[in-house]
Amino acid sequence: MSRLAALRLGHFLPALLLLGSGLLAATLPSLTDFFTSLFNVLPTLLLLLGGTFCMVYGRQRELFILLVLYMGYFVLDDQVDHFRDVGRVRDDAALVFHLCSLLLPMLYGLFALWRERTHLIQDLIARFAVLLAVCGVATALARRYPLALEQWLSTIRWPALHAEWMSLAQLAYPLFLLIGVALVVQYLRTPRPVHAVQCVGVIALLWMLPNTFIQPHALQVMTSVVMLMIVVGVAHEAYQMAFRDELTGLPGRRALNERLQRLGRNYVLAMADVDHFKKFNDTHGHDVGDQVLRLVAGQLRKVGGGGKVYRYGGEEFTLVFAGKTVEECLPHLEAIRQAVEQYPIQLRDRQQRPGDDQLGRQRRGGAGSGRVSVTVSIGVAQRGVAQRSVDEVLKAADKALYGAKSAGRNCVSSQVKRRGAVKLKSSES
Ligand code: GH3
Ligand code: MG
Ligand code: MG
Repeated sequence: MSRLAALRLGHFLPALLLLGSGLLAATLPSLTDFFTSLFNVLPTLLLLLGGTFCMVYGRQRELFILLVLYMGYFVLDDQVDHFRDVGRVRDDAALVFHLCSLLLPMLYGLFALWRERTHLIQDLIARFAVLLAVCGVATALARRYPLALEQWLSTIRWPALHAEWMSLAQLAYPLFLLIGVALVVQYLRTPRPVHAVQCVGVIALLWMLPNTFIQPHALQVMTSVVMLMIVVGVAHEAYQMAFRDELTGLPGRRALNERLQRLGRNYVLAMADVDHFKKFNDTHGHDVGDQVLRLVAGQLRKVGGGGKVYRYGGEEFTLVFAGKTVEECLPHLEAIRQAVEQYPIQLRDRQQRPGDDQLGRQRRGGAGSGRVSVTVSIGVAQRGVAQRSVDEVLKAADKALYGAKSAGRNCVSSQVKRRGAVKLKSSES
């Protein structure tokens, strides 16, 4: 799968919607009392609820991102409150603000890129030590050398790169850029919902910081929104873990069970099983077997007629057609059976792969290039008088599948008629 193909809108959509609503709320000239009170408590509430959620599920990385966001909010909110109440900023506002502009993206990026270790307690201690060390050193420097530090932070090091609109410490911009790029690379390498959310979170922070003292609700709203994004990202992954099959990316058995409970009066279920897969595994190895399962899943996924495919388990897949009859589904099932059969699978033996590209191309094109194909057998049944419950229809589809296997495999078989399987196609040589 190409990296760009792995990029999924679904991973970004919840975070982008949250970002959009956050920007809208933060730029409104005034919020109602209800929303003002809500955004005042939301960061604390999200830290408590989201933090507990992350702790229970062992998500240290997201727990520390929430903690960093809350700490930044806590420190800056104090300054913003003073500015709002008194009408001018505190003496140390510039120092605190520039320090937060550097530390917030730095710690956010660090914890977002820091992979979780298997040993939870060690991981927790290491993260806590880093957070404590960075914040401790920053506080000590700010107390000991406030003027020197403020000057160092507000120095414009590269005048040629400075623009009027840049209100953060100049160092913050390359830092944001670096972290943004690193997070995008992390997402492209491992396209997971939390990685997508972290990328959108950086954009929200980059908008929030310069607007902290300008837009009255920027800090509360954007901190709440980014914290919410992180919690939603964790929940999204928990959902995926429960309902998606990791190997093929198809919805798994749990998702199928859910779908089966919501079927109407008319539906068709089909069971597809890879032929002689055990032999394939034994000949080419389990890894190649896994790749083949992914390829077969990719072909089955393309089924037309409104069908949806699930991995039932092992090398078996279930196709669900709601509101359809067997006659309507058969052409679509036949089409995917043919698609699987005709899909060439190029076996690449790593040990025998030539170092020379040209030689490799010649070998791939040659007769002994290791091209194989797999086939599937499909059994199909519809809800009717003979089988009324989902279990009965599933059993009938399974029976039809056995019929397809005994009819020579690589065919679609249905049990519309009560007497035996009706073999529709048998094309295995
Ligand atoms: P038939 O044509 O009758 O279906 O024969 P078969 O060999 O496909 O059927 P059988 O049920 O005997 O073997 C299924 C094999 O599928 C056994 C197991 O090794 C393999 N298998 C199940 N799940 C996976 C998986 O996730 N990855 C891989 N590589 N193999 C799997
Ligand atoms: Mg099987
Ligand atoms: Mg099989």
